[in-house]
Amino acid sequence: MTILLFDIDGTLSTSQGAGTQAMTRTFQQLWGIDNALKGMNFAGRSDSWIVPTALANHGRDCSPEDLARFIDHYAPHLGTAVQERNSRLCPGVRPLLDALTHEDVTLGLGTGNFRRAAQAKLKPFDIWDYFIDGGFGDDHPDRTELLAIGLERLRQHSTDGAHTNADAVVIGDTSHDIEAGHAIGAKVVAVRTGYAQPGDLDNADVILDDLSDLSASMAALLD
Ligand SMILES: [Mg+2]
Repeated sequence: MTILLFDIDGTLSTSQGAGTQAMTRTFQQLWGIDNALKGMNFAGRSDSWIVPTALANHGRDCSPEDLARFIDHYAPHLGTAVQERNSRLCPGVRPLLDALTHEDVTLGLGTGNFRRAAQAKLKPFDIWDYFIDGGFGDDHPDRTELLAIGLERLRQHSTDGAHTNADAVVIGDTSHDIEAGHAIGAKVVAVRTGYAQPGDLDNADVILDDLSDLSASMAALLD
């Protein structure tokens, strides 16, 4: 049994700035901050890292209640932005997910998105229901920790039960995915469909241009 943890942004889909647009609207709406994310490099960062960091940049603390309010307002803005921005799936994603449903794998997410944000990004493509569970931005600001939490949840769901020695594979598009994946003892498959700069993906176990070659992608994930 293999447990797969897919990143979302730049790996499963590209939201064409929808997340940034929706977050910017939310900061403006809740705290009157314009262009809250300007100048920040947040590729591969979790939502629960981005929101407090952006608030700190504007001289504000972020309480747990602030974060909860943020999610309540951000999720609907994101749903709208995903439509407006013409988000799309990365090449090969749907055929790959279909093919994986016939394999002995547990399909999960390992993403810095809040759970409701992940849902808003994947539901329009009808791929949210492929994933049993996962680790999300709500679980922890640090990507290694949220992946570890997601892996533990997915172990509970896997067919051989909680004590399985399942292999874990993390699929992502940034150096943060690679570092965190290795930190939890997973194999890491990196894709070039996202936000990586040259050299960022060098430490991945396998690097794919995208997921459009089904047999190459299956081999990378399952061999
Ligand atoms: Mg990503």
